[in-house]
Amino acid sequence: MQANDNPKVSISQITTMNPNSEANSPVTIIRDAAASAKINVTTLRGNVSVLEGSGGNMGVLTGPDGKVLVDAGIPGTRARITKALASLSNDPVKHLINSHWHFDHTDGNEWLHSIGAEITAHENTKKHLSTTTRVEDWNFTFPPAPAGALPTNVFDNEQTLCVNGATLVLKYYGPAHTDSDISIDFTDADIIHVADTLWNGQYPFIDYSTGGSVDGMIRAAEANVGRATDKTIVISGHGPVGNKSQLIEFRDMLVSIREKVAALKKQGKSRDEVVAAKPTANYDAKWGGFVINGDFFTRLVYAGV
Ligand SMILES: [Zn+2]
Repeated sequence: MQANDNPKVSISQITTMNPNSEANSPVTIIRDAAASAKINVTTLRGNVSVLEGSGGNMGVLTGPDGKVLVDAGIPGTRARITKALASLSNDPVKHLINSHWHFDHTDGNEWLHSIGAEITAHENTKKHLSTTTRVEDWNFTFPPAPAGALPTNVFDNEQTLCVNGATLVLKYYGPAHTDSDISIDFTDADIIHVADTLWNGQYPFIDYSTGGSVDGMIRAAEANVGRATDKTIVISGHGPVGNKSQLIEFRDMLVSIREKVAALKKQGKSRDEVVAAKPTANYDAKWGGFVINGDFFTRLVYAGV
């Protein structure tokens, strides 16, 4: 696959090609794609913007105390991220928040720390970055991150950050997409970065290797629906910036597919039999067009019911 903004190869296709090669892992494909990806900058409200194109969507708060970034992107895009940040303001990057430990949200930690950013994250993000971590469903083993990439400030449940005249509330979801996911609430602007608890218009990855589950994803989706008002701007981990109705749609999709898969599993069907029954058929046209197709998502749900 050639690097582009929107990789269309599914994880199931990749692992079928060569299950033993990390070269075919979605991790490698996403890292390579980011090296040539275009960065789109959108100012949302107040002094909050979003950068799209390098791994997970990156939130940016500008102001005299220095920029606050939510998620670090992929280092192959460093030059274009630097240019995009400079287009917003001259403030240096002083704070980086990791929404969770995954590479497409933390690979840029080391270079951002090297230019002066403190890194805040849930304690499990630091835990996973500090050690060798295997993600079975990505067919990839991550070595420990370099010391400069580790979070410098961790918390276990909730933390408030007052910066640039704004109040940011960081809240742990509990186990959801991983066991390290937090929401970042820009309370004054009524913008919430929900990271990989929302893949807007895409089936989500669920990382069972580090504590994620479909039921955890549903709990997080419920929390997001409960937090949002009709005016809230929602920054997703992947897919376009969204709103409350898209949070509801995503939650309903998860619940519906979970029920279908659980009912089939309860009848004693094997994983392959459940995949063959196509429980996601009514949803694939809308949600199955990105990295994870319906069959792969069915397998992820099956593992958790
Ligand atoms: Zn993730």
